[in-house]
Amino acid sequence: MTIDRYAVFGHPVKHSKSPKIHKLFAEQTGQALSYEALDVPAEHFTQAVTRFFDEGGKGLNCTVPLKELAWQFADVKSRRAEQSKAVNTLALQADGKILGDNTDGIGLVADLSGHHQVTLTGARILILGAGGAARGILGPILEQNPQTLVIANRTPAKAEELALAFSGADIAGCGFGDLQGAKFDLIINATSASLNNDTPPLPDGLLADNGVCYDLAYSNQPTAFVNWGRQQHAGKSLDGLGMLVEQAALAFFIWRGVQPNTQPVLELLNAERLV
Ligand code: NDP
Repeated sequence: MTIDRYAVFGHPVKHSKSPKIHKLFAEQTGQALSYEALDVPAEHFTQAVTRFFDEGGKGLNCTVPLKELAWQFADVKSRRAEQSKAVNTLALQADGKILGDNTDGIGLVADLSGHHQVTLTGARILILGAGGAARGILGPILEQNPQTLVIANRTPAKAEELALAFSGADIAGCGFGDLQGAKFDLIINATSASLNNDTPPLPDGLLADNGVCYDLAYSNQPTAFVNWGRQQHAGKSLDGLGMLVEQAALAFFIWRGVQPNTQPVLELLNAERLV
């Protein structure tokens, strides 16, 4: 039996949960594959990815700081990847071309709606941050037809630029200071502030009654933004572990044509962080 080879490239990548998630998916679905985490700094990306596919690799995930480089590398791109200018999934096609896709935004929407019963349609949504992750989630969120979407960023010009790139929808960009007096049903933290145990400087009263906070970052302990949500009496204050599992499931589907069941995998990862 041939074992097909997959990997995640990132820098740093040591603590990635992706190898574990894909091993569980493979066991669950009876797929013969290997999946490893490889530390690849940006300056070695092109060489490493070329070698990986030359040596018979079938697919890659790319994480920080490689998603834009992966976008440049892909021969063909999905609409999601084109929209976000970032790729987290590379897949070898039958014709030898490398497909680039971005499963982050679909993963977030699947986690919110599937695991947490959060409705995006008609909701007032605030996205904090205007980096790669924010760009990746915007398209799939807009497809859910929210009532309004505001992007707020430490550097307001970047939020305004991002809003312009998705113009046509009711979408605006601003700085954190401009949010005073506004109300949102869902606040998504797509800044990297939680990685430094920090939260963006937000005014009190931003969250509607029973509103939801979601941090794309995840950790074994509640992140700084999950704690902020709790202080603001959020109906739910969630972190991004479910998004990680869901984006992995879509990548697995792109590679193998088989949809894994995410629920038991998420339950296992959640149980592990409680001990
Ligand atoms: P980028 O470096 O591309 O962007 C970082 C963003 O955070 C910028 O908007 C930056 O603002 C802002 N920022 C950084 N520090 C602060 C701070 N102290 N206060 C306020 N704003 C700050 O990162 P990514 O977009 O790639 O990643 C963002 C987060 O999303 C990370 O925590 C990452 O782990 C997470 N993520 C989670 C995924 C999942 O599956 N759960 C998938 C993808 C990402 P400025 O423009 O002013 O510099």
